[in-house]
Amino acid sequence: MKTRVLIKEGEYRLSKAGVMDARIDSEELYCFLKGCDRVVLFLNKEQEADKGTEEAYFKLIDTRAARVPLQHITGTQEFMGFEFKVSPEVLIPRQETEILVTEAARTLIDERKSAVHAKAQKRGKLFRMFSSPPEYDVLDLCCGSGAIGVSLAKICEDISVTASDVSKEALAMAGENARKNRADIDFVCGDLFAAVKSGDQMDPKADPSGSSGSDSSGRPLWPAKLQGKGSRVQRFDMIVSNPPYIKRSSIAMLQEEVKSHEPMLALDGGEDGLDYYRRIIADAHDYLKSGGWLFMEIGFDQGEALRKMIMETDRYSVPEIIHDLAGRDRVVKCRKKKPE
Ligand code: GLN
Repeated sequence: MKTRVLIKEGEYRLSKAGVMDARIDSEELYCFLKGCDRVVLFLNKEQEADKGTEEAYFKLIDTRAARVPLQHITGTQEFMGFEFKVSPEVLIPRQETEILVTEAARTLIDERKSAVHAKAQKRGKLFRMFSSPPEYDVLDLCCGSGAIGVSLAKICEDISVTASDVSKEALAMAGENARKNRADIDFVCGDLFAAVKSGDQMDPKADPSGSSGSDSSGRPLWPAKLQGKGSRVQRFDMIVSNPPYIKRSSIAMLQEEVKSHEPMLALDGGEDGLDYYRRIIADAHDYLKSGGWLFMEIGFDQGEALRKMIMETDRYSVPEIIHDLAGRDRVVKCRKKKPE
């Protein structure tokens, strides 16, 4: 069978199974199998595929036709131009989350510029030439695969990123992704801010099946570099988060790939989808420096509810709702109020 015909047959089987981007996935699976890119596939379209290739290809197609996400077959997803490993233990990084990272990075870069500028104004030109800009502490809350924290650490200079998650399996994956992308990140394990408060810092290289951050005699398992930081309440210049936000009643309507193969822990936002926002908004100001930023991804119809929730606390600036390219709510951004 010619490669072109093989791909066409793969596409047909996928679309019959209800896969959304059948053409793209049929090509991607071929490229994954052969370890080539789409340009090579295009150039080889008229070549005969051997029997072994044919068999192995249709096996992959069958798996995808059973609605296993493409990324669980290939094991990776690109995000912000970086490659991330994924597994069923973590949410596959979504394109829309790039808006959160882009906005957060832009804010950090602008802050840095204006901080250097303000100091230079005060102390003269020489200072601008020799001063080092401030280092910003950033917390990626519910980090999952680590896509947000790792990307920010790669894009922004002079930031120190801490990533937290309640799932040890997710943290192990985030740790792998940090190493793979050469990002230096501290990991903490726990339920939302409990992770930062308890100082239960974690070495993502450690066995994720271990049940706590310490051995039976209470001795911490994690390396010295990671200890101590959390023993006092740490305050951050920015908290970024993509928490679970799907309304429980909407979960049944999600695509098969999502509802049957991605971690429910990363999706289920409770009865109205807002459970995690309530908790984050109630506590974030305790972990933010004065004027510190809070950036959260939100569902397409949650902007108004978030605006109200944030305003009611009277502890943050008027929130800004950032939209995606289709004009839907996607990110909420606000600052901890500075004392008057
Ligand atoms: N955007 C994801 C989805 O549509 C949900 C992510 C989340 O709950 N944080 O499946």
